[in-house]
Order: sequence, then structure tokens, then C-alpha cells
Amino acid sequence: MPFTPFHMGPGTAIKAVCGKYFSLTVFGFSQVIMDIEPLVRMVRGDSVLHGVTHTYLGAICIGAFSVLVGKPFCASLLRFWNAGLEPKYLRWLSTQADISWTPAIAGAFIGTFSHVLLDSVMHADMQPFAPFSISNALLDFIPVGFLYLICLFLDSVVIR
Ligand SMILES: [Zn+2]
Repeated sequence: MPFTPFHMGPGTAIKAVCGKYFSLTVFGFSQVIMDIEPLVRMVRGDSVLHGVTHTYLGAICIGAFSVLVGKPFCASLLRFWNAGLEPKYLRWLSTQADISWTPAIAGAFIGTFSHVLLDSVMHADMQPFAPFSISNALLDFIPVGFLYLICLFLDSVVIR
């Protein structure tokens, strides 16, 4: 992490810039999948929380999974969302439920790669270039509090 929701800040900013070419829901799906491993490791009490999922090689695999599984899963979530809307809100809260391949791929891979990049700054147990290198040159590149502020700022800029 930064805790999974903080990753959505950069995601919403990218969505604002890229629009229909970027799926925010697939991006969010990939964030959740990325942080399943640290969550399981936390529950188990492991000393290393960020393993293979928090490498760029893992990002490729989880990105592919997010495209193949996240695309139909997120489309069904969006259809469910649209179906649950009251008629008076349909016009401004309904959304395009179909997700085509380009935004799905962009959301998934930007999601997983940005996740590894952001987490590299704050987690000493990460080896983002494993198995090729055990170094993490980005660790403490900027203060963790500043990283959180950047994520919050990106999120709040888009909401306004
Ligand atoms: Zn993470």
C-alpha cells in the first residue's frame, strides 16, 4: 500500500485526462488484486508483506488478470449500478457499462505499474525489480506523508 484507496487518487486524475480511453473501474479492480497478497501476509504475521505481487513482473501478471477477469467483472458491476438507479437519477448517474479492450488494458496496466511505483517509495520490504535485482532505488525518494498528500491532492483536484 499506500492503503489501496489512496491509489485511486492518481487513477481519478488519469481518468480525467484520458476519459473514455481509461477504465477507472478496471484500474480500481487491479488495485484491490494487488493488495490481496500484503493483506494475507499481514493476517499471517509474515515479516515480508510485499512479495511477488509488488514487483514489475507481478504487475504484468496481475495486469493481464485484471484485463481478462476485471473487464467482465467491472462491466457487470456497472450494469448492476445502472439497474439500481432510480429513474430521476438515471440521466446524471448512469454510466457506460460496456468496457472495451483499450480502456480495460490501460486501466489494468497503468493500475498495476503505478501501484508498484508508488509502493516502492514507502515499503522497505519491496524488491520491485525481483528476480533481476533486489534493490529498491525509490525507497524514501520522497517522504511518505508527502506521497499521501499527492494521492489525496490528485483525487481532490478531479472531484472539484
Ligand atoms: Zn500495495
